[in-house]
Amino acid sequence: MKRILVTGGAGFLGSHLCERLLGEGHDVICVENFYTGSKANVAHLMSSPYFELVRHDVTFPLYVEVDEIYNLACPASPIHYQFDPVQTTKTSVHGAINMLGLAKRVKAKILQASTSEVYGDPAVHPQREDYWGNVNPIGVRSCYDEGKRCAETLFFDYHRQHRLRIKVARIFNTYGPRMHPNDGRVVSNFIVQALKGEPITIYGDGQQTRSFCYVDELIDGLVRLMDTGDEITGPMNLGNPNEFTILELAEQVIELTGSKSAIEKRPLPQDDPTQRQPDIAYARETLGWEPVIQLRDGLRRTIDYFDRLLTAG
Ligand code: NAD
Ligand code: UDP
Repeated sequence: MKRILVTGGAGFLGSHLCERLLGEGHDVICVENFYTGSKANVAHLMSSPYFELVRHDVTFPLYVEVDEIYNLACPASPIHYQFDPVQTTKTSVHGAINMLGLAKRVKAKILQASTSEVYGDPAVHPQREDYWGNVNPIGVRSCYDEGKRCAETLFFDYHRQHRLRIKVARIFNTYGPRMHPNDGRVVSNFIVQALKGEPITIYGDGQQTRSFCYVDELIDGLVRLMDTGDEITGPMNLGNPNEFTILELAEQVIELTGSKSAIEKRPLPQDDPTQRQPDIAYARETLGWEPVIQLRDGLRRTIDYFDRLLTAG
């Protein structure tokens, strides 16, 4: 049994990760400031004697004794990370410094939830880990993109300078149950709009692409990466390479929900990446990991979740 810290553990990905780690028999400490996460996401774990929920903001130092740290704390939806951009950068950068400092003191292995956003609006397609990206340093997405890039820098400097055991995962768009209905990201937006019979809001012409991974498979990739030997640091892309236009996603959601919602075009937000698809050869070879859940099947499960949530009121 390992003692494992998950920051951002009551968020969308964090709650699934806590559940998976508890299921494997570990002792889990979930650290949360409830900015976008909620107690409801981990309510079903609270009865376990091996689960602890701590209200704490990772921009402040934390003193706990753990064997492993998964650093997930950071709002991930553009609407939420742009609401308080200074706090977003602080969370990424000060949060990384605090968690790396903790890992150094207690000699823990530490994994960073980085992002495909480090590639910005990519000029290389699909994106491989050796691509340095195309990121606007002063735009509205920069607090997140540059914050995550700086966090990667800190991880690799702690590794080189202090021999820390690090793992950096570059996560591509992931979806599934426990996304917040007001999360603002595209999959939850479209499903909630379709179920409520409201217009499906497509930003721009809908020809921009994303590659969507179902949450369970992404979590499996994170755990496998954490369990690799010390020579594996990443950065490693984790995502499903099946690429769709946003218009195709809207059409699938309308079909699967049987909704009568109309499609409504809205202005494209600033610096919205035009395309995104992970090259996962490195993860496939190193972890023996490959997502197999098709978008259609993952959407069905996610629609079921939101249907129950909205019906329960
Ligand atoms: P989320 O917003 O649901 O979860 C983030 C969690 O971090 C929330 O529970 C939030 O309250 C918490 N948090 C935010 N600031 C904090 C702070 N200062 N101190 C403590 N807790 C704080 O988003 P998610 O989709 O679960 O993303 C989790 C991580 O994975 C994030 O770091 C995100 O950047 C990364 N990621 C996610 C995706 C995706 O598609 N879901 C893609 C790339 C990267
Ligand atoms: N998007 C959209 N309608 C929405 C929400 C998002 O058309 O209601 C688009 C958004 O402009 C982007 C894509 O969907 O091109 C993915 O957006 P999301 O916020 O989910 O994540 P991103 O990958 O941009 O961080």
